[in-house]
Amino acid sequence: MTRRRVSRTLAEQDGRIVCIACDGPVGVAGQPWKSNAALTVIPVHAMPGAPLAPQPQVVLRRFCCPTCGALLDTETAMPEDPFLDDVLDAQADEEARIGRA
Ligand SMILES: [Zn+2]
Repeated sequence: MTRRRVSRTLAEQDGRIVCIACDGPVGVAGQPWKSNAALTVIPVHAMPGAPLAPQPQVVLRRFCCPTCGALLDTETAMPEDPFLDDVLDAQADEEARIGRA
């Protein structure tokens, strides 16, 4: 079993993206994972302590582990915007870190 951490909340393990907290599957390595997460959407202007939002349509998207509910990532966006998909690639991250990419 090979496991590499690819973010503060996710790891790559045996070709899958898994939740660090519970090892639950979240996606396939090398492919966007956010569509597999449990998603909640909150209007930013409705959040406690929110500043005066210049765009009342802006929402906060919270992507959580579908197994344990741990918060995996967040993003702000307009409701109709596609997810800001990030593809997690532990090998490419490691190569970039050591200067091979
Ligand atoms: Zn989890």
